Amino acid sequence: MAAQMSDAHRRFLQVLMSHGIMEGSEARKLHRRCCEIHKVYYAHDKLDDFITTINIQLQPLFMQIRKGMSEGDGRSHYALVNLAETEITKMASDYAENELELFRKTMDLIILSENGFACSTDILNLADQLKTKKMKKKEAEQVLKIFVEDNWLSERNGEYTLHTRCIMEMEQYILSTYQDTARKCNLCHSLVIQSQVCESCGIAMHLSCVGKYSKAQTEPRCPYCNYSWPREIPGTKQYI
Ligand SMILES: [Zn+2]
Ligand SMILES: [Zn+2]
Repeated sequence: MAAQMSDAHRRFLQVLMSHGIMEGSEARKLHRRCCEIHKVYYAHDKLDDFITTINIQLQPLFMQIRKGMSEGDGRSHYALVNLAETEITKMASDYAENELELFRKTMDLIILSENGFACSTDILNLADQLKTKKMKKKEAEQVLKIFVEDNWLSERNGEYTLHTRCIMEMEQYILSTYQDTARKCNLCHSLVIQSQVCESCGIAMHLSCVGKYSKAQTEPRCPYCNYSWPREIPGTKQYI
């Protein structure tokens, strides 16, 4: 039988809502703190059960706390996801029409790219081609900054990719909108944006998933076709 929601669960949900997304280690600390404050039973390995109790209550609201993985470092994250709106309309109340158009076009660039990144020059070049309302480059720069602050995009050295939170929220939307290009990781079966692709059989994987898989092996190989893996594997010092 599912446990009842307590004040500890409610507090956990409130804090997660205000953050939108939290790293696994932060969520575990928060779990502990909430249980201590409200003096309810705490076990460090029961976070997923604790979240299941909350998720049962969220179901009628079409919301869910989901566990996902950052593509950059492979760390687990928890995010509150809205299941009712499966499209980009999730963002509609927060942004102007042309900002949403810029986001959609940025998403196209990222997903259609080989490595899951779009450079700022290419994105800024879209600003004066927007159909809804053109933007100056300076404005577009500002909008990109806000997308990063709001956890829709991540930026590294002028290269943009989708934020973990965005991937978690929009996985279904992306898979159905970009049916021909969006790919699932061969190992964890989640959507992968920053794809590592096997040169031989063409399957895609997360870099961190390849890393985890290869740890148990003497030399990195494709988990599908066994072809040698041609790139550096994080966490190991192996090259081919
Ligand atoms: Zn994966
Ligand atoms: Zn392969």
